[in-house]
Amino acid sequence: MARPGTAEHPLRVAIVGAGPTGYYAAEALFKNERGVVVEVDVYDRLPTPYGLVRAGVAPDHQKIKSVTASFDKVAANPRFRFFGGVEFGKDVTPADLRACYHQILYCTGAQTDRRMGIPGEDLEGSHPATEFVAWYNGHPDYRDCTFDLSVERVAVVGVGNVAIDVARILCRTPEELAATDIADHALEALRKSRVREVHLLGRRGPAQAAFTNPEIKEIGELTDADVVVRPEEVELDPLSRAALEQSQDRATLKKVEILQGYAARTPAGKSRRLVARFLVSPVELIGDASGRVAAMRLVRNELYATATGALQPRATTQFEALPVGLVFRSVGYRGVPLPGVPFNESWGVILNDKGRILDPDSKRPVAGEYAAGWIKRGPTGVIGTNKPDAVETVLSMLEDLAQGAILTPPHPEMAAAEALVRQRQPNYVSYADWRRLDALEVARGRAGGRPRVKFTRVEEMLAALSRGSETT
Ligand code: NAP
Repeated sequence: MARPGTAEHPLRVAIVGAGPTGYYAAEALFKNERGVVVEVDVYDRLPTPYGLVRAGVAPDHQKIKSVTASFDKVAANPRFRFFGGVEFGKDVTPADLRACYHQILYCTGAQTDRRMGIPGEDLEGSHPATEFVAWYNGHPDYRDCTFDLSVERVAVVGVGNVAIDVARILCRTPEELAATDIADHALEALRKSRVREVHLLGRRGPAQAAFTNPEIKEIGELTDADVVVRPEEVELDPLSRAALEQSQDRATLKKVEILQGYAARTPAGKSRRLVARFLVSPVELIGDASGRVAAMRLVRNELYATATGALQPRATTQFEALPVGLVFRSVGYRGVPLPGVPFNESWGVILNDKGRILDPDSKRPVAGEYAAGWIKRGPTGVIGTNKPDAVETVLSMLEDLAQGAILTPPHPEMAAAEALVRQRQPNYVSYADWRRLDALEVARGRAGGRPRVKFTRVEEMLAALSRGSETT
């Protein structure tokens, strides 16, 4: 048969994962300059699209979420279909997709968290920040998580943007939160929160902090929380000073300046304190008699230069105890292996070269299979970083098509894939269904002046679409 990519025989692509990368890839496929006609089916295990834009971006960052308008434009293409609530590896297998598509693109992100690897990490009251984030954003899998917000002091380990999000949400007033699309269950729990002090713990110095400047600025402007920084912890050590003098990196210079500005502030006596610490690492979580976290043992670090010149933390012999009732580890996300897809365990990504999935033994590309986004490069960058990343993979896909290096599915018709999905997951959610859910959520929010009130259970979503509740 002739090479696919024409109106009569379109190139059929399955994208697994409806997060930003999935949309950016679909957009790049539709807009390709080679005139290849492409049909895209996007699968997601959740009935709702947008990945971390819905389940990760903080509810008080609505502006960032407006990126979904451009995703909806992509989805409006008649050659785009959404199969929501269809889990890869459970409802559809790699073999199913290979039977229906010329190319398969995995954009599943990084669905779990990294661990700190210290004693006491699993005590009650110690949680991955990713779970807290998914909970307050109404992700159905985390709907029933509980966090003891009756405690007064909380530690957030790590100083990336996720750590900042978690600390900021804990420090917002109920009135501020009530104006967002935070999940109702989280709003209710946070209304009753007795948390008064949130400690952000950075293992390196201010110049190495992973958060970005708008995010660190924002925590200095909180309505009812003072930001507290120890002057001695944001003074540059000689190595950082030398590195900065050489690089003249303006963003980092500004970051250090913002933090030093906080250190010079006198607390205004607001009802909460957000304490940002640097050059400290937790070495142990200490439990009380009932096995709940009660304190954290911290060691002071100093920086040293590695052979590559990177400044890394090294423990000193100075320790301190920080009494805390709740700990969120926010030390990065991590990719999860997909059934039948080669995975690099140590990096937590799919083994790939420019998005082409590689056979782990031969290190040669596996025909027709690709990766993009966090599952391709790891959990770095902002939402928009995934656009060039997806474009790179799509270029590989189009090059391979031109070389004839694609799958040869026995059933490449649109109807065949749909029939398969209908058979395996009769309750799948189409894009039209999602738009109905979207409109309902927005309508639910209108009365309370909120952007939306999310459905947080799959059954609720299906009931709203007048469907049965069998999802398996
Ligand atoms: P991240 O930016 O990689 O930050 C991870 C933090 O954890 C770093 O401070 C890191 O310190 C620290 N860390 C790692 N291992 C540690 C350990 N064993 N002990 C103590 N600290 C440790 O990751 P993230 O915060 O999860 O964010 C993921 C990505 O999403 C980032 O690119 C982020 O910018 C993005 N994001 C953006 C926004 C936004 O734009 N508003 C919001 C949320 C997330 P070291 O640097 O020393 O390794």
